[in-house]
Formats: sequence, C-alpha cells, structure tokens
Amino acid sequence: MELDKFQILDLLEGYQKRQFKPSEVVTKYLAEIKRRNPSLNAFLHVNETESLRRAKELDEKMGDVEKMPLFGVPFGVKDNFLVKGWRMTAGSKILGDYVAPYTATVVERLEAAGAICIGKTNLDEFAMGSSNENSAFGPVKNPFDLTRVPGGSSGGSAAAVSASLCPFSLGSDTGGSIRQPAALCGVVGVKPTYGRISRYGIVAFASSLDQVGPFSKNVWDSARVTEVMAGYDGRDATSARNLVPKYTDSLQRVSLKGAVVGVPRDWVEGLDGDVKKSFETSLELLKTEGAKLVDIKLPHAKYSLSVYYLLATSEASSNLARFDGVHYGARAKNPESLEALYNKSRGEGFGREVKLRIMLGTYALSAGYYDAFYLKANRVRRQIQNDFAEAFKTVQCIAAPTSPSTAFKLGEKTDDPLTMYLSDIYTLPLNLAGLPGLSVPCGKDSQGLPVGLQFIGKHFDENTLFQVARGFESARGSFALPRWSAEGGA
Ligand code: GLN
Repeated sequence: MELDKFQILDLLEGYQKRQFKPSEVVTKYLAEIKRRNPSLNAFLHVNETESLRRAKELDEKMGDVEKMPLFGVPFGVKDNFLVKGWRMTAGSKILGDYVAPYTATVVERLEAAGAICIGKTNLDEFAMGSSNENSAFGPVKNPFDLTRVPGGSSGGSAAAVSASLCPFSLGSDTGGSIRQPAALCGVVGVKPTYGRISRYGIVAFASSLDQVGPFSKNVWDSARVTEVMAGYDGRDATSARNLVPKYTDSLQRVSLKGAVVGVPRDWVEGLDGDVKKSFETSLELLKTEGAKLVDIKLPHAKYSLSVYYLLATSEASSNLARFDGVHYGARAKNPESLEALYNKSRGEGFGREVKLRIMLGTYALSAGYYDAFYLKANRVRRQIQNDFAEAFKTVQCIAAPTSPSTAFKLGEKTDDPLTMYLSDIYTLPLNLAGLPGLSVPCGKDSQGLPVGLQFIGKHFDENTLFQVARGFESARGSFALPRWSAEGGA
C-alpha cells in the first residue's frame, strides 16, 4: 500500500475492489504520522483509538462504499475546529486544556459521508499568521525543505497532505490561510464563497471574512470534499441557501476551450522572479489549451492589506473578548481582583501576535476613531468588491498568483510583521469581496519549491473554478510531492 501516492479516488477504488479495508488504511496512516510527525509538527494531536474504532465500524459496512462519497477516507482538521470530546487549542496556550463540547457541522457532514477524522493539525495562534510560526506549540516544517515554513495559518493541514500523512485536510481562510499554505506546500487548497460552508463549531477570527475549505492532492478530491461539506446550515447565521451542484459530476470531461480568464496585469509587477516565471508559463499553457485571456483591472485591490488589517483586527478584538479566564480559557492563579484576573489570564494566555492584533483592533474601534478607520475601511472594501463585479462582466474567472514568494526560511520574517503580512496580498482581496478562490500547484522555483496559481470565481460559482483548475491540472501533468523516503525530506 503506497500511501504517498494515494488520492481520494484511489482509496475509493481500492475499497470498491476490496483491496483493503478502512482499518488497514487508517493503521497505515497512523504509523506514518508516528514516524514523520516529530520532524514536521503538522499534527498537534492524533486520536488513534477513536479513528480506529470508526474505521473498524466501516470495515463491517464494505457494501456501503458506493453509497458513501468519502467511505473510509482519513482526514486531519485544523485545531480551531471542534470535535466533541477532543482537545481544541486553536494554537494557543489560553486554550491548552480545552475540550470541545460539540462537533463542527463540517466534521459531522464528512463523517456522515464515511470520512474518518484522525487528528488535529497545527496552526498559527487563533489563525493569525502566514508562516505557522505563531503557534504556541512550535512551528510546522515544510515537507519540501525542513528549514522552511509551510505557510499559514493552516500550515499543519497543508503540510500533512503534502507529506502524505492524510489524503485531505481542512483549514480556515480569513485572508489566505488555506490558499497560501497550499501554494507553499504544493497541494490544492480551496476557499469557497463566503456563506457557502457552515462555520458552526469553528473558532471565530474575523466573522465577516472567515470561511472553511479543503486541502488535497488534486482538484477532483477538493471538489468531492467541498460538495460534501457545502450547503445551508441553520446553526450558522451567515450560511447561504444557494443550491450546491455536484461539482465532481462536471469534472468527468473538462476542456479549457472557450474559457474566458481575466488577468490582472498590474498585480504581477513586483513579483519574485521565479514566481513570475511560473505565472507567465501557466498563462501560456491556459492559452495553448484554448482559453481566452483578457486583461482586467482591479484598481482598488492595492488597498486590501490596509483594509484587511483594520477590519480583521477589529473583528478579532471583539471575537476574542470571550477568552478571559472566566467564559473560556485558562484562568490565572491568585489574582488580586476581578480585573487582575482578566488581565493576567489574557496576558499569560495570548501570544505576541494575538495581543498586537487585539490592541490594533480595539484602537480602531474605539470612540472617535471608528469613523476614521473602521467605517472608512468598509467603504474601500465596497470599492474592492465593485472592481471584481466589473471584471466579472467580461470574464468567467480570474487567474492570479497565490503568493508573492515560495516557502521562506523559518525565522526569516518573524521580526518584520509588515513583510509577513505582504505574503497575503494576492489572497486577501477575495476574502474582502467574499469570492471563492482555489490554489493549484503550477510549477517549482529554481530551488525545487512549489509555486501556486490562484483561480478566482464569481460568488457561488465554485463549479467554474473546479473545472478550469482541473483543466489546467491535467494539461500540466502530475505534480511530484516529497516521497516518504526522499533525501532531505522528512
Ligand atoms: N495571514 C493572514 C493573517 O495573519 C490571514 C490569516 C487567515 O486567513 N486566517 O491574518
């Protein structure tokens, strides 16, 4: 059983042909996590007993393979999703001992479809970061090069799939946290439309931006996981009622012929040499395959970083107020007063970046500054949305880089928040506009590190994204991930 080659479709076919059983597959993945996770730090905790119990239950139901779209497929979830009875840290000391009292809707839906949750993956504290170095439990290493970051904040989920520790995983994306690590780890990552997937049971960061999505080794797998998770959930007030197409049905035969793809030319200026080269080569490939490329303009996108860091920090300062040592979170010992209890609990429990963001957000929301900052940022957000709406009058989707650089060295950007924040310049605008985006591997730089290509779609048109990305993926050919025994690899 060569798990490093396994994609969801291979697993499903193997089960159909009765080549193996879920418990054998899960056992194999668990062993591999034991062997390689110490050097990668992608998983924070693994629940062997529970995942094997579920797998054995499915062993007895092999006849259901055809009926369950993710029968016996193991997955990892970012540790800001709740799974009842499992620890959930959100990458923070303040939730170090927290045990989830219920299960997130998406995990429930995946399990009902036959998938098996095997563990929780590492992340930047409260999903704030672009390199996973803000985790209270140590950074994740990039499977392509252990001296480099996997991206963030869902770095553990991206690295786990890239290193074949699970066939798919889940992340959350507030400003790029699925797509950017997917690009840096050479896997597919999808941020669906805002409202497409329920966020019930996921720790809120910035509620007007947060969205859930999958990581996988190919586009078909992500389409399958998305179609299982998507759809209305009464327990999330932002959940949309739009019907969910069966994405995988339209991936049987894909062609790029006639696809109209927008290219925001002004975005590409200032790009890293190798990333730019891969981007240009990818555009050529799209053209060769019959897509029509159209230049588009997104004049306000350049304000995304400023807008995002006002809105996301404001919303975070409000969302994180509940972690005070009373409602939630570790309680400081022997405080002199109630105020000291709050101060000490938060002071001891939160890390540096989270404190920085809470202070920024609280400042932006405070009386007298609200109009100048929060309100103004929302006005510019509207302009960014309008730019996309204008572009989508003439194109079906947009192609852009996912990240301005490939995986950088651990520690390289930790002293300079602004350069770190710039990692997300191509991903942030979509969250501000609520649009779906998908990152697909498109090449490697001169050091062999993966580069991602981002497709951006209209609201609720994930279908086009999956089709175009699948077309691109099959034209480009398979993308080699690090082998288990690869030299220099984990
Ligand atoms: N890197 C961005 C930030 O630090 C985005 C994080 C995210 O999408 N969760 O806020």
